[in-house]
Amino acid sequence: MSKSVLLLGAKSFALGMLVLFTACASAPRRSAKTPQSNAVVSYEYLLAPVREDAELDIEATPRDKNPAVHLRRAWVMLQRKRPQEAVDACALVLYGPVSPSAQTEAYARYIRAEALAALGKGKNGEYDLKRALEIAMDERLRERIEDAMPEAEPQVASDKRTAAPRTPELEIHTRSEWRPSAPIKSRLDPMGRIYRLTIHHSAMLLRSTAESEAAQQIRMIQSAHIKGEHYGDIGYHYLIDPAGRIWQGRELRYQGAHARGDNNRGNIGICVLGNFMRNRDGQRPTEAVIESLETLVGHLSSKYGIGQEQIFSHGDLVNTQCPGPLLREKMTRIARAAAAPRSRGAAAE
Ligand SMILES: [Zn+2]
Repeated sequence: MSKSVLLLGAKSFALGMLVLFTACASAPRRSAKTPQSNAVVSYEYLLAPVREDAELDIEATPRDKNPAVHLRRAWVMLQRKRPQEAVDACALVLYGPVSPSAQTEAYARYIRAEALAALGKGKNGEYDLKRALEIAMDERLRERIEDAMPEAEPQVASDKRTAAPRTPELEIHTRSEWRPSAPIKSRLDPMGRIYRLTIHHSAMLLRSTAESEAAQQIRMIQSAHIKGEHYGDIGYHYLIDPAGRIWQGRELRYQGAHARGDNNRGNIGICVLGNFMRNRDGQRPTEAVIESLETLVGHLSSKYGIGQEQIFSHGDLVNTQCPGPLLREKMTRIARAAAAPRSRGAAAE
């Protein structure tokens, strides 16, 4: 499987296969309408009207390095009422190995916001529109973005009111509180742009809510990661204990080591201490754990502009049981904290 496919996560994998299949099955394979590889990110090229019979099979493999090709494909898919494919194509540009220029990012975010709206997930696209408006240069693109912006209506105002008290200062236990060993800096890579996060479990039963027990397990994990896995430090950026305390792991300025290879790029790793498998040694996550996860995910996603579709469990990215079915079943609730910050009471199901 290619790295790019992994990057997109398991959710879009099935769809990707479908697209591949359709592309293979449709003839002719490469029509004259396939965009030129030298196509540029420009208003005229990207947002040109889509003609009925043209551009049916724009071929853009995830490896294609020209963002214009992916963005034009996204626009065509959107016009052809295939918004999910448009969202995926935009993700290839936004989260590809090369950081997009501001102009490219503005187009990708605008098209993705329109596609999310077509999927009935307009709320998820609001950040995209806001960000696109900040960086868009072309006047015509700016007009389109402004048209797509939701009206400032009472709904928005009341959202702001409920959101305001929900940005409590996060109480995070610092590294020194669990007495870590010194990291091996030569093994660490810089984090780069943050755009997603992934939730894990430690797979080690922990029922005690004592601070000292949590600190001890975190030290154990760090030791296993440095000595056993030859990582530069503990692989996760944050850890949450059964009492709901949030602990700082690896410093955020360093890329984590928790989701295998390129999956770690721009990816915040959060580990919940405990074993959430459905077996003899398994445990249920406490309400305190879920609430802390919601708070942390809500905080990080608003700080770094992480959309709901970029909140993963480890098993979404690679074939693993982590973070265990008993925690995984809470993922929808946790991811919701990213898209629509709301009062804690309202999030309970
Ligand atoms: Zn994991």
